[in-house]
Amino acid sequence: MKNKILRGGSVASLIQVKLKEEVRHLEDKYKTNLKLAAVKACGDKGIKSYLEIQKKLAGSLGIKYELHPLDGASEDTLVRKVRHLNNDKSVNAIIILLPLPDKIDKKKILNEISPDKDVEGLHLQNLGRLIYRESRRERNYKFVLPCTAEAVLELLGEAGLKTQEDFRGKNTVIIGHSEIVGKPLALLLLNKLATVTVCHIGTKNIEEHIRRAEILVSAVGKAGLIKGKWIKDGAVVIDVGTSKVGNKIRGDVEFDEAVNKVSYITPVPGGVGPLTATMLMRNVVKLFKLQKK
Ligand code: NAD
Repeated sequence: MKNKILRGGSVASLIQVKLKEEVRHLEDKYKTNLKLAAVKACGDKGIKSYLEIQKKLAGSLGIKYELHPLDGASEDTLVRKVRHLNNDKSVNAIIILLPLPDKIDKKKILNEISPDKDVEGLHLQNLGRLIYRESRRERNYKFVLPCTAEAVLELLGEAGLKTQEDFRGKNTVIIGHSEIVGKPLALLLLNKLATVTVCHIGTKNIEEHIRRAEILVSAVGKAGLIKGKWIKDGAVVIDVGTSKVGNKIRGDVEFDEAVNKVSYITPVPGGVGPLTATMLMRNVVKLFKLQKK
């Protein structure tokens, strides 16, 4: 059963070894550091732990992590900060740590980031490029992709789903239609010719869709939403959702019931989560290289 379980941590470690080497090479070649600037406008506890993970990982890879704490700042101040970072030649990549306070227009701030420093691939221009499949060569987009969607792709690759032929015509069901996970992932998998169904809060009879899924990705954040008995035999299941139940973190899928039916499944915690920050760092490296072209 063990080799059915896709662990993000071991995939992340392999990628990190390569990234560290690449960062060293780029710094030698261009005689400069790679730098990620993070803008924080909210005191949320989740953000604090996420940024600590990012900072530590960046440090271990040789990437500079510059935090700009602006808790409680106005929308105008945030816009000015992002514009300043856009013009700062020493900054290669910018991340806005989400969530932002309710009074701030998230879309406005994300779209202030220069598209070539948009490390999360959430700028309108970059999401638009995904729709138009700017590069037809697989895995060779000339911009970066949203980190969680990338982490899911990486794990699907570990399950043997890599090329367009692997995905072609596969019944693929994504639960969740957010801008950071469900929607970009749906486009990425459509570009690989999977037959994609996106379910969400408005979907009727979600069980019916799940029963057909050869590939199932869930990104909702409701523990046990997906019953193990609904999973198709041999399916590949990626559980992005996380929610706190008591003092434990749980995924959307009933793992113990599903694990005997699937060909591959991610655990929660330990599946997608540990890969996401690594994807962010890989995006910093990619943006740096695109800027030097
Ligand atoms: P979101 O709140 O923006 O979106 C949630 C989605 O779930 C929406 O599309 C909504 O329509 C859908 N939904 C809600 N209730 C539903 C139901 N009963 N049936 C079907 N669909 C339903 O969330 P998000 O930012 O996309 O994150 C989703 C989950 O993924 C969260 O648990 C979040 O913590 C987790 N997440 C994990 C990582 C990671 O790295 N592990 C990264 C991003 C998000």
